[in-house]
Amino acid sequence: MSESARTLGRYRILGELGRGAMGVVYKAEDPMLSRTVAIKTINMVADPQERAEYEKRFYQEAKAAGGLSHPNVVMIYDIGHAGDVVYMAMEYVEGTEFRDLLLRGRPELGAAIDIAAQVAEGLAYAHARGVVHRDVKPANIMVPRDGPAKIMDFGIARMRASDVKTQTGMLLGSPKYMAPEQLLGGTVDQRCDIFALGVVLYEALVGAPPFSGSDITQIMYQIVHATPPPPSAVSRRVPPMLDLIVAKTLAKDPAARYQDARELAADLRACRAALTEAAPDDDEETITLPPACTSPAAADTAPTLRLDAAQGVTSAAPQRVEPGLRLRISRRFDSQEATRRLASMTGAGAATGGFAKTMKLDLVAAGADRASTSPSAVDRAIDPAAARPPTRARERWILVASVTIAALIALAIALG
Ligand code: ADP
Repeated sequence: MSESARTLGRYRILGELGRGAMGVVYKAEDPMLSRTVAIKTINMVADPQERAEYEKRFYQEAKAAGGLSHPNVVMIYDIGHAGDVVYMAMEYVEGTEFRDLLLRGRPELGAAIDIAAQVAEGLAYAHARGVVHRDVKPANIMVPRDGPAKIMDFGIARMRASDVKTQTGMLLGSPKYMAPEQLLGGTVDQRCDIFALGVVLYEALVGAPPFSGSDITQIMYQIVHATPPPPSAVSRRVPPMLDLIVAKTLAKDPAARYQDARELAADLRACRAALTEAAPDDDEETITLPPACTSPAAADTAPTLRLDAAQGVTSAAPQRVEPGLRLRISRRFDSQEATRRLASMTGAGAATGGFAKTMKLDLVAAGADRASTSPSAVDRAIDPAAARPPTRARERWILVASVTIAALIALAIALG
C-alpha cells in the first residue's frame, strides 16, 4: 500500500476493519464506482515456496467465490496486486460477526432460526454452483444492521466441489465446526457445510457448543464419536421440533444428513412459522439482534416472535403455517428417541449415556447455564428414571417406616 496516499490499487483506504488470519481488512472507497468496499489483504510470507502457495490459495478463493451473487453471501468485486500486497475487494457489510453476538449471549429463538435459515440459503446457492465453503463458523457469518445474514470468506472454498480431492492429514478451517469426514480426511462436499451450520445452530439455540473440550484432540474426538444431547434437553426454550433438524444436520454419516442446504432452509422456515405456542423460557437472558436479520422472505411467511426472559414468547402477528409443512410430527417428537437415534447413527447406541455425561461436563466447563446443564437436565435426556422425582406416597412410606422402626427400638430399650 502506498502509505502517503493511503491507497491500494485504485482503492482509497478509509480505515482498518480488523486483522484476520490472512491479513488486514480495510474499509476503502472505490473512486471509479463511488462505493464503499472492504479490502482483504494477504500477508506474504518470506519463504518463496510458501509465498507462492499462499498466493495460489488466495486466487483460488477469489475465483471460487467471485462468481457468487446472492443476498446471503458477501460479494467479491475484484482482486488485485499492488507491490508486495495481494488483495481482494468485496462488498462492505456494516454489521457484527455472529461470533461476537454469540459471545454477548444467546440470540432470541426466532432470530437464531432466521440466521441459520439465511445461511442455509446462501450455502444452497453456492453449493448449486459447485462451491463448498469448508469453513462455516460464526466468525464467517456477518449479521448486518439492515439486512439478512451474509456468509463471509468463502476462504477455503478453493475448488469446485467436483474437483475436491481427499485432503488426508490436511486441516483447513476450525475443528470445532468441522464434519467428522472432514476431520478424518474423507471426501469433503456440501454436507460438511451443512454439518458446520448444524454446530452453529446448536450453539445459538443452547448457548454452548455441541462439541467441546480442553484441546483440539478432545474436540475432534467428540465430533467423531460423541452425540450431544438434543437442544431441548439442554435448554427448555427450544421446541422439540428443532431437535429433529439439529439431529439431521449433525448426523455423523453424511448420507444420513440433509443432502441439500435448501431442504434445511425449508425445514428451518417451516419450524419458524410453526412456533405458535409459547415455549417455556429457561430463565436465561437472550440478546436482541438487529430486526433486519429477519429477512423480508422470512417476514412474509413467519410471524415476528420475540423471546423475552420475563414474558416468554409473544407473537406480534397472527400465526401462519406454510403450506406443505414438513415437520408435522414434530410436536410429538421425542428427545430421548432423537438421542438414541443419533447414537445409533454413530454405532455407539450402548454408550449414549457416557456421551451425554461427557457433554454435561463439557457444557459446564463451557460456562453453560447451570440450571440447564444440571445433572437432572442432561440425565433426563438419556435416562427417564434419573429424572423421575420421588413421589409423595413414597416419601410418606419412608417416613412411616422410619417412625415405626424408631418406636420399636425405643420399646426394646424400655423393656430392657
Ligand atoms: P478472521 O480471519 O478472524 O475471520 P477476517 O479476515 O475475515 O477475520 O476479518 C477481519 C475483520 O474484518 C473482522 O472484524 C471482520 O468483521 C471484518 N470484515 C471482514 N470482511 C468484511 C466485510 N466484507 N465487511 C465488513 N467487515 C469485514
